[in-house]
Amino acid sequence: MSFKLILATHNRDKRDELRSILEKEMKVKVEVLTLDDIIPAIGDIEETGATLEENALIKAREVHRLTNLPTIADDTGLEVEALDGAPGVYSARFSGPGATYASNVKKLLTEMSGKENRTAQFTTVIAYIDERGRELLFEGDVKGTIALEARGTNGFGYDPVFIPRGTNKTFAELSTEEKNSLSHRGNAMREFATFMHSNAV
Ligand code: IMP
Repeated sequence: MSFKLILATHNRDKRDELRSILEKEMKVKVEVLTLDDIIPAIGDIEETGATLEENALIKAREVHRLTNLPTIADDTGLEVEALDGAPGVYSARFSGPGATYASNVKKLLTEMSGKENRTAQFTTVIAYIDERGRELLFEGDVKGTIALEARGTNGFGYDPVFIPRGTNKTFAELSTEEKNSLSHRGNAMREFATFMHSNAV
C-alpha cells in the first residue's frame, strides 16, 4: 500500500524529513511531492495571514485548488519571551525587506543583548487538506533558549542561536537526525503522521 500527498514548499529538506517521519509512523510507502515536482512555475505563495494557522491554510488552500490532491503546508515562527513573542509570525522577515538568515540572527542577538530572560519557543503549524477538501490543523513546538552568540554550521534560519531544552548545543551544532527528533517541525509532522496512521490509511 502507498500514499501520495503534496507538500506546499520548494524545500527538498522538508520533503525528505516529512517522508521519513510518515514512513516510520505509518509503516507504508509515502510519496511526497513538492511544488517543484507538480507546479514548478508557482513561485512562493504570499504569506499574508496574521497567524501561523492562517499562513499554513493560505498555502495549503492555494495548492489544493490548483492540484486537487491531498496537500499539506507548514508555517513556523520563533517566539522570544523577552521580545513579547517577536519575531513570531514575522520570523522570515524580522530584519526587514531583503532579510537573510544571517541578518535575522544578527538582529535577534542585538535585540537580546543584555536580556536575562532568554526563553524562546519554535512553533510549527501544519495545515492538511484531504482529497475531499476537509481542512485539519496540527501543531508542534520546542522550548529552549536564545544563545549569547551564534554557534554551529548545520541547519538554517535561527538554528545557530536556538538551544533546545535538555541540551547545551544549538540546533546548528546537532546532526539533522538529532534536530528532527526534537524539533518543532518534527513534532508537528509526527502529530500529522499519527493522525494519518489511525484515520486515513
Ligand atoms: P517557514 O514557515 O518554515 O518558512 O519558517 C519561517 C522562518 O522561521 C524561516 O525563514 C526561518 O527563519 C525560521 N525557521 C523555520 N524553521 C526553522 C528551523 O527549524 N530552524 C531555524 N529557523 C527556522
